Amino acid sequence: MKSLFDINFKNKKALIRVDFNVPLNENFEVTDTTRIEAAKPTIIKILEDGGSCILMSHLGRPNGIEERYSLKHLVNPVEDAFGVEVKYVPDCIGEEAEAASQALKPGHILILENLRFHEEEKSGDFEFAKALSKLGDIYVNDAFGTAHRAHASTTTIAQFFPDNKCFGALLSKEIESIKKVMETGERPITAILGGAKVSSKITIIDNILDKIDHLIIGGGMTFTFIKALGGSIGDSLVEEDKQTLALEILELAKEKNVDVHLPLDAIAADAFSETANTKTVSINDIPDGWMGLDVGPETNELFAKVIEGSKTILWNGPLGVFEMPPFSKGTIAIGEAIANATKNGSFSLVGGGDSVAAVKQFGFEDKVSYVSTGGGAMLESLEGKTLPGIAAILDED
Ligand code: AMP
Repeated sequence: MKSLFDINFKNKKALIRVDFNVPLNENFEVTDTTRIEAAKPTIIKILEDGGSCILMSHLGRPNGIEERYSLKHLVNPVEDAFGVEVKYVPDCIGEEAEAASQALKPGHILILENLRFHEEEKSGDFEFAKALSKLGDIYVNDAFGTAHRAHASTTTIAQFFPDNKCFGALLSKEIESIKKVMETGERPITAILGGAKVSSKITIIDNILDKIDHLIIGGGMTFTFIKALGGSIGDSLVEEDKQTLALEILELAKEKNVDVHLPLDAIAADAFSETANTKTVSINDIPDGWMGLDVGPETNELFAKVIEGSKTILWNGPLGVFEMPPFSKGTIAIGEAIANATKNGSFSLVGGGDSVAAVKQFGFEDKVSYVSTGGGAMLESLEGKTLPGIAAILDED
C-alpha cells in the first residue's frame, strides 16, 4: 500500500484531500471537530517531517459559491487543532492559490476554498484537477468519506502525481480494517446486518457470504425473512416483493456453510412511537396491530453467544429502532457483546451509517477495534466494489 509513512515530506508541499465536511452552527462555528481530529495523524506526520500542508475539502452541498459553506470558517478550528499558523485562499485554483502555495513555509498549513464551489469538482473534470495539481508536490488522499466518488480532487487529480501520491493515515486505516474482515480475518468471522431493509443490504450479503462463518440478521429486515419462512409478523416492516430473495439468501448461505441467525423474539409495539404499549413476543407470532421494533431478550442472549465466540466481527445496521429508548436494547446488547469480544482479542469493525451513530450514542466507540468514518464508502467496500479514490492511488482501473 502506498502509505505516507514511506515518504519524507521535508521541504515538500503536500496537497491533501481531507474530509472537512464538518457541521457548523448559525454563527459558522464548528460544532463537531471529529473530522479535523481524524486528519491529525496525516497532517502532523507531514509537518514534523518539515513539509507543508495544503488542505482541500468540500463542505456541504453548495450551489455555486455560498458564503455559509466557505472553508474560511475552518481556519480558527484548524489553528486550534494544530497550534500552527493557518493561511486561507478564497479559491482552490488559480493565481492566488498558486501564489499562496508558493509562499507557504515548511511547518505551515494552507486551506483552500471549498472544492464544490466549482461544479467541475463533482464532474471529475480533467482541467480542474490539473489546476489543483499545480498546488503541491505530493498528492495525499485522506478522505475515505468521498473515496467512492470519482471527483476531481479524489480521483482525476491522482494521474498528475504518477510517482508522488499516497494514502493518508486515516484512509490507510480504513483500507486495512476492511481487509482485516474481508481478506485476512481470523475465523470464525461473523457479520451482523441490521437496519431497515433487505433491499439495501442485498449486495453486501451477496459479497460477504463467501467470506464469513456466521450471519446475524436483525432490525426491520428480519421480518421479510420471518414472513417468507411462514411466521406471523403482524404490522412489522416488510418488503413483500423481497420474500423470494430472502429465501434464496438463506439457501445460498446453507450452500456456503454460513450459519444464519435470525431473532427468536421481538419487542412488539402497538404503534411506531416511544410511548406505545410494548410486549415481548415470539418472532414468529406477532399479533395483528403490533409491530416488532426491537429484538427481544432471548435473541440478545443468542446473538451475544455467537459474537463472543467470533474472532472477527463486522457490524452494519442497528438491531431495532434504536433512536427510541424502548427499542434500543437490542442494539446496545450487540454493542456490549462486540465490546466484550474485542476486549478478549477479537477484531471488530463497525461501518456504514446508523450503526456508527448507535456506537457513538451508546459509548462503544472506544470499545470496538475500528469505527469507519465513511458511510457510503464503507457500504460500497462491503459490497466488494473498488472505490475510485483508492484505485487512483494504486493505479488500478
Ligand atoms: P439502515 O439505514 O438500512 O441501516 O436502517 C437504519 C434504520 O432502521 C434506523 O433508523 C432504525 O430505526 C430502523 N430500524 C431498525 N429496526 C427496525 C424495525 N424493527 N422496524 C422499523 N425500523 C427499524
